[in-house]
Amino acid sequence: MLTYKFRIYPTAAQARTIEETLETCRRLYNAMLADRIEKRTGFYDQKKMLVELKRDNNHLKSVHSQVLQDVVLRLDKAYQRFFAGLSRYPKFRRSGRYNSFTYPQSGFRLEGDRISLGTIGKVRVTVHRQVAGAIKRVTVIRDIDQWFVALLVEEPPGLVRSGDGKVGVDVGISNVVAISDGTLIDNPRFSNRSAERIKSLQRRLSYKKNGSSNREKAKLSLAKAWRNVRRQRDDFAHKLSDKLTKENKVIVFEDLKVPNMVKNHSLASAIMDAPWGQLRRLTAYKAERRGGRVILVNPSGTSQKCSECGEMVPKSLSERVHDCPGCGVVMDRDVNAARNILKAGLEQARVEAEPLLVQRRRISKFGR
Ligand SMILES: [Zn+2]
Repeated sequence: MLTYKFRIYPTAAQARTIEETLETCRRLYNAMLADRIEKRTGFYDQKKMLVELKRDNNHLKSVHSQVLQDVVLRLDKAYQRFFAGLSRYPKFRRSGRYNSFTYPQSGFRLEGDRISLGTIGKVRVTVHRQVAGAIKRVTVIRDIDQWFVALLVEEPPGLVRSGDGKVGVDVGISNVVAISDGTLIDNPRFSNRSAERIKSLQRRLSYKKNGSSNREKAKLSLAKAWRNVRRQRDDFAHKLSDKLTKENKVIVFEDLKVPNMVKNHSLASAIMDAPWGQLRRLTAYKAERRGGRVILVNPSGTSQKCSECGEMVPKSLSERVHDCPGCGVVMDRDVNAARNILKAGLEQARVEAEPLLVQRRRISKFGR
């Protein structure tokens, strides 16, 4: 499955209908959540409940029935993530905090530069990439003052396959991506500038009176500044993951626990930390589609060990060069780390590929 995201330009009347749909979905979500909390109901009870609710609620009747069913499903998924320990307990959504709804199977049709959506009508859309394959699902998204649709498309066969390369990628604490072949990719320059802008907007916001229209304006500017940051780093992660997965069959990352990294909380790091998790996720997803794979390895020692001879060469964070007294090799510290990451990944893949018997013997050799 592939996702295409296009901007849409609803007319004023269409935008009102979309806003109303979002609001109806938000209220339904909250009502279903309250019901789950009070009566301990489950997904199937709630599907039945929806049918009853619809009988005497005109707001619900005016929304495409599949969109409403998807709200029930979303809440159920939120619970499943909670029970799996992946997220917190589902929360009630405040006004303005419910920004998308989905047509899970039907109720949409893309025709040239118009997309027809359930009860909303034909909305102008900018299709900047040819959609190849059947559209399975459509989500309408509000992003502050702009509108988008995300189309989930069944992928046609015959996609670009990955190349034969093998690389390690170091995305450690410095804001440079190092690749084991020696490539260094710079910290996207926007980060500092964006941090400055966000800081000044936050300051401005703090001076505004609660409830004033100026405060609302300042809040909007701040939200837009964050949106810019998000788009720039999405773009960065998309381009780099494309490059990595097109050229390589095996891509190795460190298995970093991102939440730990984020704890160190300056604004600049808040801006920069997020893309690493996203880069790995996108790379794994694209590698799988292209017939490659991503391996995650234990990060301990990758920056200290010499990737040439294996000697431990301790260095502080400020030392940018790996200069090995053991074998004399000199290289960028992050490239050295990337090479260690690649080695560890290949070793891990080799062990995985061995028959079980050999693996057991290997374990017992080390005294287990
Ligand atoms: Zn060495």
